Amino acid sequence: MQEASPIQPFNVSLPAMEKRRSVAFHTLGCKLNFSETSTLSRMLEKDGFDKKEFDDTADVYVINTCSVTDNADKECRQLVRRIQRRAPESMVVITGCYAQLKPKEISEIPGVDLVLGAAEKFNIGSHLRELTKGNSAKISSCDIEEVSGFNASYSLNDRTRTFLKVQDGCDYTCSFCTIPMARGKSRSDSIENVLRNAHELAASGVKEIVLTGVNLGDFGKGPDGNKKHEESFFHLIQELDKVEGIERYRISSIEPNLLTNEIIEFVANSRKFMPHFHIPLQSGSNKILGLMRRRYKRELYAERVALIKTLMPHCAIGVDVIVGFPGEDEESFKETFDFLHSLEVSYLHVFTYSERANTHALDIQPVVSPHLRHERNKSLRNLSYMKMQYFTAQHGGETRKVLFEGHEKEGMMEGYTDNYIRITTPFRQEWANEIVDWKI
Ligand code: SF4
Repeated sequence: MQEASPIQPFNVSLPAMEKRRSVAFHTLGCKLNFSETSTLSRMLEKDGFDKKEFDDTADVYVINTCSVTDNADKECRQLVRRIQRRAPESMVVITGCYAQLKPKEISEIPGVDLVLGAAEKFNIGSHLRELTKGNSAKISSCDIEEVSGFNASYSLNDRTRTFLKVQDGCDYTCSFCTIPMARGKSRSDSIENVLRNAHELAASGVKEIVLTGVNLGDFGKGPDGNKKHEESFFHLIQELDKVEGIERYRISSIEPNLLTNEIIEFVANSRKFMPHFHIPLQSGSNKILGLMRRRYKRELYAERVALIKTLMPHCAIGVDVIVGFPGEDEESFKETFDFLHSLEVSYLHVFTYSERANTHALDIQPVVSPHLRHERNKSLRNLSYMKMQYFTAQHGGETRKVLFEGHEKEGMMEGYTDNYIRITTPFRQEWANEIVDWKI
């Protein structure tokens, strides 16, 4: 017969005896989400979790969702089902933009244990300490108006290039967009803290930083939701330019009305800021831009492109464009097509408009049929392909600097020139994470 231990009256295990738990992540959506997942993962590893691949068996699964994805709901359900088949006892946590927008809906997905809204995402460690597997999911979320803090984050999968989040949220009211409802008001890191992170990244061997945010050009509003700009994006890039060890910067995306002449001139004269811009246009028709509540007209966009190309003829320019927005008749689409055709841009990211709950665009008529949306998407993607071919051919024969990434894929390696031309070549270890002169 076994005697009960006199010194252990309760069924508790001491922290030192606790089994290490494992966690696996899955990210949907944009670079901002990837940088945040990467930070969440490092936080939990510090808390004693072992990181696993999403297809492995883990104790906790975290899905970082996106609200821009057309079928966020379907994707989320499928992922939870996959987890349940593989590891029915594991904890499932859903966070990210979709979790902020539809917490109740997500909590009703069988198998979900915890839904974390925008304010609670970075408190995941303490939530996991208290979480137990139960019949219903716990929701920890608040109204987006109350979300004000800023959490810096960066991705560190491959040390070659990192996405550093310096800004979050957006104060604009584009009529198709749910991001302000999912991420809250515009707020930023301080320049001092961004520089600290940049130094840390340089010390860990990172060569290229991609500055990331929701509305990057609006950088500088304080984390307490202070509407005034305390610092500016122009000041930020001037300071970053001086950081020893970081050899390249890219600006992930910047609104045309916030891309000032001084920023363009600075990039043209900087050795570290790469000749590469990504500037959302969304439509080449002023009528549609008005319906979208964008803050510029196509003439301003053309001026920005012209100045960039005058100062940096070799500069790559990427464009976001939406097709099938309500009210986009044949004439408006033709205007967009012709405008993009005439512009000296290098590639397009084409999005097909899809209806989003609680957006003003839902009130605009007439809607464009799914078939036309699809056709328009196809024709702009063809245009993008031709633009990219042309841009690459223009630089054929030139020697440009390529930063090669560290991983080998089927015997090959990849890298980008300063002006964002992708180079693929047989893997050579000595080129991994190095800048190499390359004849295109
Ligand atoms: S600028 Fe417009 S499209 Fe971009 S995040 Fe803000 S509201 Fe959305």
